[in-house]
Amino acid sequence: MYAGGSKEVIDVDSGDYQVTKEDEIAAIDYELRQIETEQQKLEDRKKVLLDRKQKLKDDALLQKSLNLAKKNWDTEDFSWSKNLKKALTDVFKIKELRPLQLPTMNAYLSNQDVILVMPTGGGKSLCYQLPAVISKGVTIVVSPLVALMEDQLHGLHKLKVNAKMLSAKAPKEDVKAVMTGLVDNKSDLKLVYVTPEYMAKSNRFRSKLQKAFEMKRLDRFAIDEVHCCSQWGHDFRPDYKFLGILNSMFPGIPILGLTATAPAKIIVDVQKMLEIQGCLVLRASFNRPNLFYEVRRKPNDKDTCLQMISNLLKHRFNGKSGIIYTTTIKESEQLTTDLRAQGLKVGCYHAMLEADYRTKVYSKWISGDYQAVVATIAFGLGIDKPDVRFVIHHCLSKSMENFYQESGRAGRDGKTSVCIVLYRLMDVFKLSTMVFQDKVGLQNLYKMLGYCLDQSSCRRSLIATHFEETWTKADCKEMCDHCKKPKEKKTLDVAPYCRYMYQIIAKAASSDQRLTPLKLIDSWYNKGPTNLRVDSVPTPKFPREVGEAIVGHLFINGYLQEDFHFSTYSTLTYVKRGPKAGLALANDHKIFMEMISD
Ligand code: ADP
Ligand code: MG
Ligand code: ZN
Repeated sequence: MYAGGSKEVIDVDSGDYQVTKEDEIAAIDYELRQIETEQQKLEDRKKVLLDRKQKLKDDALLQKSLNLAKKNWDTEDFSWSKNLKKALTDVFKIKELRPLQLPTMNAYLSNQDVILVMPTGGGKSLCYQLPAVISKGVTIVVSPLVALMEDQLHGLHKLKVNAKMLSAKAPKEDVKAVMTGLVDNKSDLKLVYVTPEYMAKSNRFRSKLQKAFEMKRLDRFAIDEVHCCSQWGHDFRPDYKFLGILNSMFPGIPILGLTATAPAKIIVDVQKMLEIQGCLVLRASFNRPNLFYEVRRKPNDKDTCLQMISNLLKHRFNGKSGIIYTTTIKESEQLTTDLRAQGLKVGCYHAMLEADYRTKVYSKWISGDYQAVVATIAFGLGIDKPDVRFVIHHCLSKSMENFYQESGRAGRDGKTSVCIVLYRLMDVFKLSTMVFQDKVGLQNLYKMLGYCLDQSSCRRSLIATHFEETWTKADCKEMCDHCKKPKEKKTLDVAPYCRYMYQIIAKAASSDQRLTPLKLIDSWYNKGPTNLRVDSVPTPKFPREVGEAIVGHLFINGYLQEDFHFSTYSTLTYVKRGPKAGLALANDHKIFMEMISD
């Protein structure tokens, strides 16, 4: 078809009348566009097939894991069951195990490799601490954050369990105690916490481990935040790669991986990285039935937005305790000042504040002197307040995982609590410049955008789908904004608007101007610099928030794309056509979007 096409041009060219060069270029352009469309269709198909192939392979592994999970691990007739129960009450002073803790420990103590997927706060650490306490040898716990390890050590020392930590900053005596304890049959050393970097870099430690292994003093490995092994995760750490050798270096020593990150793709990847393919995978439910999920449109005007938050604190959450998450340190400080000016009692918390000051803010919040903490996501580790009644996101989170974890700090006591996201499209572009260099940073951010943009689905179902849980509508019990007030919805074809966006982009490009997302929407709504406006693009009759939602939808689905540029002080994002532009330009192509009908 293409060869024929060009021949035709030549024939005409040699005929009676002359085809201008412009005509020919236009014809070529037309054909090139068609080729691009075909290419895009093939690329899309290729991607679908590759994904499918990978999924089939992964399913085989998952099936193996599933078969292992069928065995009844949830019993008390293992040889260690009595000891386990005794140590639980005597050492840990805990009355009852939570769901999945017993099966995990039984499998782990049976020398199975296990991955436990459980939301934060579910009680994952006990699953290796308790087996360690009833065993003679040593359990090695790999954990990425020194602060987390210090927390745990502190807790264990109070329970009189001998646990030590190795990190680049560990004092010499501690290092010595670990190195001797590992290879001393008389030592009561039970747990050694170690950073992945230390594990990867210290030959001395590894040779002691080898020795301990030969002496049969090496009982088990536990790897906390195990999703850090996977590049698909939201928190990939290169030093975790080294852990791949554990299984071959210490054959028969079981590995327990712990994480609150659930997608099957990541779990399978982790299994591969650790060379424990097809190991037992246990998953706890991510549903938090007592949390009410809500998304509100964030006013563009700063004062209106402040008023909205202030009203929430003064009325709906009057006398209740909560957290307000902001993106930057500056924002957390500004919002604290502004809310205080409204007579509200709030404290500020971020990583740049002195440790003493942070502790003070935290205690004032715990005691109720502060109604809320206005914080960056640095506020999270070790929060132990059961009656957090609200979590407000002043700006959407970077990923669904982050959102789940941050909002999940509400309602630990099981009583009804509210999680509100204040959403506006422009915040997405503030975050995108912060995350785009991560392999899946943008993909994760756009998933969060999808959660905010969705105008009709149950919020809970969106969270469940993200964590790959099966879900029925009845499970929500009207505990989200959409289920509480269902709205009529309609499906709209937004392809024509997509083509308008391309016209605006083309116009900007023709005059060598870069187009920010804000300028794109401004131009569409006949605002902003006149030289960016396009006469043939009609001004929409629907409100700007609908226009923004359409643009958001086009980004999520690959019709528009962010284009990042570095300036001296910051990263800037502009808009360009997305990889699916070829498709969108074909007149019969449709881009469906669900909207609420008014
Ligand atoms: P995760 O690592 O899953 O986020 P942790 O292991 O830090 O959670 O546990 C969270 C809290 O729950 C800790 O204070 C822990 O002592 C407590 N906990 C764990 N298991 C139980 C249980 N069976 N009963 C009561 N409290 C528990
Ligand atoms: Mg933990
Ligand atoms: Zn719902």
